[in-house]
Amino acid sequence: MSAPGYPVLLDLHGRRTLVVGGGPVAARRATGLLEAGATVDVVAPWLCEELAELVAEHRVSWQARDYAAGDIDGSWFVHTATGDPATDDAVAAAAEAAGTWCVRADDARRSAAWTPAVARGADGVVVAVSGGRDPGRARAIRDAVAAGLDTATLPVRRHRPVHRAAVGTVHLVGGGPGHDDLLTVRGRRLLATADVVVVDRLAPRGVLEHLAEDVEVVDCGKAPGHHQLTQDQINDVLVDRARRGLTVVRLKGGDPFVLGRGGEEALACRAAGVPVSVVPGVTSVVSVPAAAGIPVTHRGVSTSFALVSAHDGIDPVVRAAHEHASTTTLVLLMGIRLLRDSAAALVSAGRPSTTPVAVIERGWTPGQRTTVGTLADIAELAERRRVSSPAVVVVGDVVALRDRIGAQHPELP
Ligand code: SAH
Repeated sequence: MSAPGYPVLLDLHGRRTLVVGGGPVAARRATGLLEAGATVDVVAPWLCEELAELVAEHRVSWQARDYAAGDIDGSWFVHTATGDPATDDAVAAAAEAAGTWCVRADDARRSAAWTPAVARGADGVVVAVSGGRDPGRARAIRDAVAAGLDTATLPVRRHRPVHRAAVGTVHLVGGGPGHDDLLTVRGRRLLATADVVVVDRLAPRGVLEHLAEDVEVVDCGKAPGHHQLTQDQINDVLVDRARRGLTVVRLKGGDPFVLGRGGEEALACRAAGVPVSVVPGVTSVVSVPAAAGIPVTHRGVSTSFALVSAHDGIDPVVRAAHEHASTTTLVLLMGIRLLRDSAAALVSAGRPSTTPVAVIERGWTPGQRTTVGTLADIAELAERRRVSSPAVVVVGDVVALRDRIGAQHPELP
């Protein structure tokens, strides 16, 4: 290409196009033209299987012979992919003389027109990339842009419908344990459509940077003891924004239905007649131990685990110890403030004081740290190391596997 080129989209619907050549490249071109609604004539002495099928299905017409002068007459658009430079030359020259656009597959530099790598969005968006002389690179860029749009990692929001619904929807989205890329693809997609994002402290906050400037972000900043918004106030915000016809994403840490009051928020929306959807998230219950290299179950060690909230006192911890066999792994959330009492209560309830315990702080973040001890000494160790929330406490023999499996790095290598 000597000049920079002039991008254009053609409406080929019902228009006559010509494909010269019968091989796989010609087949791909013919398929693309058919998808655009064009009428496709093929001139080639033989056909590959794919083209032969299109002919058999009467989707393209076929002249079974070599290209001949006059074949392009009446064509709007021509692809030549014969594999024979002399024939491609002849087709291109005839097209030039007739003022018809011609793409030649053999030599992009001598072509008068090019077909870009294309991705089509459900909303009618067409992403077309031309990679200069490197079609592979064009396809790679096209794929990256399409994925970026799909997952909202590119800073463009899907366009809001002009006629906004009378009532919007609230999506309760589990954000995973902290790292942005542990949020589900569905969660990312919904974030790309959000008018309002109501976010918790433990949600993956890096994703907020990708939101468009006009997206309202309501920060619930639930630091322990510093509730910026009460649960009732959060429910009110969700309902209020949805009633204004807005799409609301309620971005929560971990999974919305695991000690996250997602159920209460869903019920509040239902009571107000607001549509609500739930998007599960990667819960810290299993993923934060995994970050430290601890599987919550392991064949021959433990075949069950129990989740316990230690937020409102140690009664649930004591109950769990009585209700479950000593081989059941116990996973304590919100367990730092009462760690000493919990460990003592578990020993009183019959768990051996030598039972291994791991405390994993800030899993899947750069500040991840694991403290390992036993029920007898974990409180002492945690105090000495100034262990703080958020942290997950794992009690059970599975903790010993950590040495062999190894801590996971928060980032992909
Ligand atoms: N819905 C969340 C849990 C909310 S309760 C989920 O499914 O994960 C909040 C508790 O989760 C914290 O006190 C802590 O015990 C745990 N937690 C959440 N994210 C964590 C992280 N990245 N590292 C360590 N603990 C975490």
